[in-house]
Amino acid sequence: MKSFDVVVVGAGPAGGHCARLLAKAGRKVLLVERYENFSVNSFSSAGTPIETLAKFELPNEVIGSYWQGIKIVTTNLNESWDSPKPLGVVLDFTKLREFLAHEVKANGGEVWLGYFYLRKEEEAEQTILFFKSKKEGEIQVAAKVIVDATGPSRAVIYNKGEAQPLFHSGTGIEYLLEVTPEDYEKHCDRLTFFLGHKWMPKGYSWIFPMEKPKLKVGAGLLNSQHELIKKPEPIKYYIELIIKDYIKPKNYKILDIHGATLKYSQGLQDKYYRKNIIAIGDAVSTVNFLGGEGIRHGMCSAEVAVKYIEKYLNGEASDFKKYQKEMYKIFYKKWIISEKLGLKKYLLDSDNIVDRSITYLKYLNIHEIMDLLFNYKFEKFSKIFLIRLVIKSLAFFRKSFGFKGS
Ligand SMILES: Cc1cc2nc3c(=O)[nH]c(=O)nc-3n(C[C@H](O)[C@H](O)[C@H](O)COP(=O)(O)OP(=O)(O)OC[C@H]3O[C@@H](n4cnc5c(N)ncnc54)[C@H](O)[C@@H]3O)c2cc1C
Repeated sequence: MKSFDVVVVGAGPAGGHCARLLAKAGRKVLLVERYENFSVNSFSSAGTPIETLAKFELPNEVIGSYWQGIKIVTTNLNESWDSPKPLGVVLDFTKLREFLAHEVKANGGEVWLGYFYLRKEEEAEQTILFFKSKKEGEIQVAAKVIVDATGPSRAVIYNKGEAQPLFHSGTGIEYLLEVTPEDYEKHCDRLTFFLGHKWMPKGYSWIFPMEKPKLKVGAGLLNSQHELIKKPEPIKYYIELIIKDYIKPKNYKILDIHGATLKYSQGLQDKYYRKNIIAIGDAVSTVNFLGGEGIRHGMCSAEVAVKYIEKYLNGEASDFKKYQKEMYKIFYKKWIISEKLGLKKYLLDSDNIVDRSITYLKYLNIHEIMDLLFNYKFEKFSKIFLIRLVIKSLAFFRKSFGFKGS
């Protein structure tokens, strides 16, 4: 039986980055993924701000496209914000994970694709992990530390049958389209988000550009009841609506259809560690509830985890309590506000309110919009509330005193 310092289960962005950092630090590391290749579960739209590239040292080969604007389309209105410089990229999710796995190997680690994690047996100094593969059947490895990076499965951190916290679940589906160069040009510079009951009553839909002439068109919703829309259409209806009613392509080809269901712990009540096991990425709900953005946050959790794994392996810490503390410091406040806002926006708001929120957002500039959508700087709302107050006061004075004018 082979033995490792660390076995990372799940080769998503969080697991891949974690194994990459540990391999670079000279640890004997194994990265294990249930699928035989990364194109099988290329489920993510993978939009991210430009800073992600430098922060996680990502090369050009993982970039699908650059974008420099945001457009929001609601049932009756639309608004866009643009910058002269690139603000972000859409990553190629397959290539991103291939790159991370390649880095693990290049730095002396092992990567096993096509191995499904089954169970574990705890011993005094190590844990035995059991995997199943088509090639080898059941196989065991020993590890001093195990990283659960299995995303929504949370396959390692919880024992079979163990009670888990309450989750919000959300499902996203996306079509990868090949369109004509002219249709591509219309959508290639921006991330376009669709809100409101016409486009997606219990979530939002989107068009993200990929390399020429490909577009990702997707929709994601919360799997909970909407206060006002009792029977929404199936997700694919909304994706096809965007194609038919918004893009109106001359002709197009569907190259791929992919999707996934995320499970987000209500109030961030995940288990972050137990004994020599530490959980990262979506296994501890690092995906942001409001925007569904999770790649860089999962990679950030990997960086925090590696710090405490090193301490544990060096005998400087006997558990991962401080890991959870640091994760809460980074995420808790912003994620709790995002959860509350998301529940209101996606499950309570009327179409009228969604339309109205865009009329207020138009007073923000592109940098403020980026701060709101990607940096979760909710204090930007105070500017919006102020604008709302001014608009309401003007309306009141006009009505009361018969003022006319603009
Ligand atoms: C439709 C959709 C669109 C999205 N768009 C964006 C976006 O635009 N930008 C963004 O930043 N985020 C986006 N996200 C979220 C983002 O993709 C996730 O937050 C991110 O992938 C989480 O990374 P992770 O490594 O924690 O988990 P995952 O990416 O889920 O990786 C977990 C890995 O573990 C493997 N695994 C699970 N169980 C086992 C097992 N038993 N044995 C072995 N391996 C196992 C899985 O196969 C998987 O590869 C989107 C998500 C969805 C569903």
